[in-house]
Amino acid sequence: MSDIIDLTPLRGVRVTPRLNARFAEKIDRSGECWIWIGLRDGAGYGLFTLTVTSPRGLAQRTERVHRIVYEAIHGRIPRGMRVLHGCDCPPCLRPDHLRAGTDRDNWRDRLSRGRLRIPEGAAALPTRKSFAGWSRQMKISNADVAALRETYASDPDSTVVDLARRYSISPGFVRLILLGKTRKKAPGPLVGRIRKVRSPNAKLTPSKVIELRRRYQAGGETIYTLAPNYGVSPQIISQALRRETWADLDDGVPAFRRLRYARRRWARKLSPNDVEAIKVRVAQGVSKSQLAEEYRVSRGLIYDVLKPHAPTPPPTPPPVC
Ligand SMILES: [Zn+2]
Repeated sequence: MSDIIDLTPLRGVRVTPRLNARFAEKIDRSGECWIWIGLRDGAGYGLFTLTVTSPRGLAQRTERVHRIVYEAIHGRIPRGMRVLHGCDCPPCLRPDHLRAGTDRDNWRDRLSRGRLRIPEGAAALPTRKSFAGWSRQMKISNADVAALRETYASDPDSTVVDLARRYSISPGFVRLILLGKTRKKAPGPLVGRIRKVRSPNAKLTPSKVIELRRRYQAGGETIYTLAPNYGVSPQIISQALRRETWADLDDGVPAFRRLRYARRRWARKLSPNDVEAIKVRVAQGVSKSQLAEEYRVSRGLIYDVLKPHAPTPPPTPPPVC
């Protein structure tokens, strides 16, 4: 085989001896592979800029050098084919290390060299018809996409960043997967929007907020009885119930405009359920001191609870004109 790579056969390129010399200068032939020592791209392939004739005149075209070499020797690369390295060395451009092949050939090569991870549940190699388990990026399998989407939909505390870390993909890719902007055919529930990122110092989590809203909606609780359960102030509970905070949680609980107001002194310490229980137990003969101790309130408060209170007056009807 000739040691000289002659670019003259390239179509649309005026190749001068000077150009050939410039090309040859950037090749290190000291080893088995001929290594391009000029500019390389991110994947390690050598790059070379050629002046080509185009319908609009002369144009600069930067191409991967192994493709230039292949074209100079074998002519145009067939449509849909790639130029593959038999030596698995991207910057190599030694002609007898290069061959044309399909994507599938490329995958097979990479697989046999251990440079490809087969996603769990995927066919050993994707075929033209079946990409089951393979993504275009081959970064995450369909099974993992489904699991990722399920987790995000079912666990309100899961975050994009956590999922990205768990599946070793970028947060941006996770967002696209969740929104269905990529991996459209992969299974799993999609979301209409991504949840807001919360401060890691927040005492409430999305799941706690959903829970406290449901408890409040079910009745029997006030902001005062809920607050100690969540280690936050009644004001924080109030904001969450009015949806002034955590407005983007899809929990199906409406925003409460008017919160159950704690009219009575004991309402700050005892829930309506507690009050009912206390009444029943007093009727059963349990002592007020014992109940006061049990509920950690003063005896006076137990007396207050038992006092009959005036029924809430009906709302005043609007004046009729
Ligand atoms: Zn090589």
